[in-house]
Amino acid sequence: MPVALATDWLVSTWDQNAGIHVISPMAAALEEIAARWLLELFDLPRGSGVGFVTGCQMAHFTCLAAARHGVLQRVGWDVESEGLVGAPRIHVVASAEAHVTVDVALRYLGLGTRSLVRVASDEQGRMRVDRLREAMDMLDGPVIVCAQAGHVNTGAFDPLRAIADVARERGAWLHVDGAFGLWARAGRDVRGIADGIELADSWAMDAHKWLNVPYDSGVAIVRDAEAHRAAMTVSAAYLVQTRGAERDAVDWVPEFSRRARGIPVYAALRTLGREGVADLVDRCCAHARHFARRLGDAAGVRILNDVVLNQVLVRFGDDDATTRAVIAGIQEDGTCWASGTTWQGLAAMRISVSNWATTGSDVDRSVEAMLRVYRGVVERTTAT
Ligand SMILES: *Cc1c(COP(=O)(O)O)cnc(C)c1O
Repeated sequence: MPVALATDWLVSTWDQNAGIHVISPMAAALEEIAARWLLELFDLPRGSGVGFVTGCQMAHFTCLAAARHGVLQRVGWDVESEGLVGAPRIHVVASAEAHVTVDVALRYLGLGTRSLVRVASDEQGRMRVDRLREAMDMLDGPVIVCAQAGHVNTGAFDPLRAIADVARERGAWLHVDGAFGLWARAGRDVRGIADGIELADSWAMDAHKWLNVPYDSGVAIVRDAEAHRAAMTVSAAYLVQTRGAERDAVDWVPEFSRRARGIPVYAALRTLGREGVADLVDRCCAHARHFARRLGDAAGVRILNDVVLNQVLVRFGDDDATTRAVIAGIQEDGTCWASGTTWQGLAAMRISVSNWATTGSDVDRSVEAMLRVYRGVVERTTAT
């Protein structure tokens, strides 16, 4: 969004260190407002801690650091001072389809990926709750469950309300990867898919994807603000920190000195408003459905996923080589850009509609380009 880009330039121009309130009260105030707006927009607990980080990767790191603090504190272990050596073992449960950045965050946190229990998912990539229950029954001690709101391939959401019930029964911490999917909660048409998301303990998401602010920008949200703060805060003798009335960003993020990356988020939200964000989200999802309808109607083209959000998986000629050739052709053609993926063993083209500026005619032109490239691939194959 132009306003977010212009604001990002201002942030660089001002060049203030937005780590603590006393050296940039303006940044602290604007980020505090943006944080409150995000909690209102997603209707998440208003007392949650919010940290503006570089992306969903670091949002996972931040939220899972808070989770690590929270679940170990309940068993009487202070991980910030004692570390993990000799600590009660934490089990982390995630779906087989969890995003790789969850694994990386666990590595950074010293939990390792071997502590990860994988739960089978269904044909859309959603975690199976029956399997989650079975897995939880096998585990003793502190547990963190990582659910997903918005699968990178299908856009599918894990059944969050049911997962939250299981997590609550078991006293586990529930973390949600809502990199782009959390934005569904700000939409009107697609809001229902995020049902139960408010029951989680922490949420990681991106602003540089669906909110269309410049890279890099992600947000970590933690229900238990004290756990969040305890996991992140620093206290060096020379640091003039506030007593809590004002916001010191260092208390909520892994960075120390930092740019005020929450200000472009503030500007985007201020410009769009609640209605504008809902329009952006719903419009992108409508475009995705339009892509699916038009492509799905064409001979030889198959849509592999239920288009529940902004993601569409397309397969051409029911053939891996043909599909890969079409993806390469589309990338070369330049009308639009779509990446390749493999979904349940099948090569597929992945369409992800998330740009604020994409119009219906862009979608039509893209569909025509895709079908033109596909026809070209078929002609070449039959000629040889
Ligand atoms: C993009 C994405 C991530 C990683 O986000 P970054 O901003 O690239 O760190 C994590 N999970 C999901 C579901 C994503 O789509």
